[in-house]
Amino acid sequence: MGRGDPPRHGPVLPPLPAMESASALLPHELVHRVPGLDVAEARRVVSLVHRLGELPAVTPAGVRRAPYQALRRLVSTPHLTLVEERPSAIDPFVKYAFAAPDGAIVEAVRIPLERPGRFVACVSCQVGCGMGCAFCGTARLGHRRQLASWEIIDQVRQLRGRLPAGSRIHGVVFQGMGEPLANLAAVLTTIRVLCEPAALAIDACNVTVSTAGLVPGLAELLSSIPRRVRIALSIGSAIPARRLALIPSERQHPLAGLLALLAAHARRTRVAPVLSYTLLGGVNDTDEDIAALTALIDGFLAAAGLQPRLSLITYNRLGVDDPFVPAPPERLDAFRERIGGRGTPVVRRYSGGGDVEAACGQLGLSLARG
Ligand code: SF4
Repeated sequence: MGRGDPPRHGPVLPPLPAMESASALLPHELVHRVPGLDVAEARRVVSLVHRLGELPAVTPAGVRRAPYQALRRLVSTPHLTLVEERPSAIDPFVKYAFAAPDGAIVEAVRIPLERPGRFVACVSCQVGCGMGCAFCGTARLGHRRQLASWEIIDQVRQLRGRLPAGSRIHGVVFQGMGEPLANLAAVLTTIRVLCEPAALAIDACNVTVSTAGLVPGLAELLSSIPRRVRIALSIGSAIPARRLALIPSERQHPLAGLLALLAAHARRTRVAPVLSYTLLGGVNDTDEDIAALTALIDGFLAAAGLQPRLSLITYNRLGVDDPFVPAPPERLDAFRERIGGRGTPVVRRYSGGGDVEAACGQLGLSLARG
C-alpha cells in the first residue's frame, strides 16, 4: 500500500486489554470484579473452573444467571496444551511438556510419593532461567520468559487430570524450570490459588518453594505466604567461593543474608526450611565441605532456635559433556552420618526420571539442545 492510500480495513484499533484468567482468581476477587455476584456463588464458580477448566455456557446450579453471564464476558479460561508425556522406565516419575498459547514449552513432573495414590506436582515458573547455576540444565536455556500464574496453575490442573483413578495431587513443589523469586508476583498468586479450598485445595504444608535465593524476593515471599508453606534453599556449597562458582547469584545475594531471613522466619513460624544440597563429586563433597555445612547449620540453629532439614540430592548428569559427576555413595553417607549424627534431620532426596530428563536440574535440557 502506498503512502497516500486510504486504509483498506478501517483505522487500526489499539489491542483489547487481555482478559484475566479465571483460574488465577480467588472467590473474593471475583466478587470484587462482578457486580451482584456473592461469595457463595463465587466459590461455586472457582470450583467449577478448577474442575472443568472452563466456564460452561449454561449458568450452573446455585449461581444467578445475570452475574454469571457478566463474569463470562470478563474472564477467559486459557489452557496449556499437552505435547508430550514421558513416563520413566526406571521409576514411576512422569515428565510432561505443555505448549503455551505462544508456543513456549513448559515442563512439569509428576513425582510419586511412598503412599500409593499420592503424587506431587513439580511445576515450572519460568521458561528457562537466568540464574546460571552451573549444575543445572535449565540454565542452558537462559531466561526466555516469565510464566503467568494461570500457566503455573494449569500445570497442576493438567497433571491432576491425568492421574490414575483414585489418586490425588498431595503437594506442589516449585522446582521445575525457573527461579520462583524472579517471578514472584505470579508465584504468590499461584500459591494462594493452590491453597484456596474452592480451587485446588492443597494443604499449605505440602507446598514447597525451591530457590537459589534472591534477598529482596525472599523477604517479600516470607512476609506474604501462608505460614506453613515450606522454603527449600539451594546451598550449592557452604564455602562462599565454592558457592559462587556454582550459583552466581551468591555475589549479590550471599548465603548469609538468605539464611538470616530464613532464620527470622523460622523463629516466628516454627516451620523449618529445607537446605538442599546437590552432591557433586570432588567439588562440594569433601570433609571441608561437611565442616562448613555443619558450621552453617549450627549458626542457623542458634539464630532460629530450631534445626533446618537437610536434603541431600544425588546429581544427575546433564550429558557426556557435563563437567560434573555425582559424588560417590560413601561421600553421601559421610554427610548423612556426620551431620545427621548431630541432630539435624537429613533426608536423601530421590530425584527420579533421569532417563526421561525429569530429574532435578534436567528440565529444559531437550529444549536447550533445540
Ligand atoms: S537451579 Fe533453579 S535457579 Fe538455578 S539455574 Fe536451575 S532453575 Fe534456575
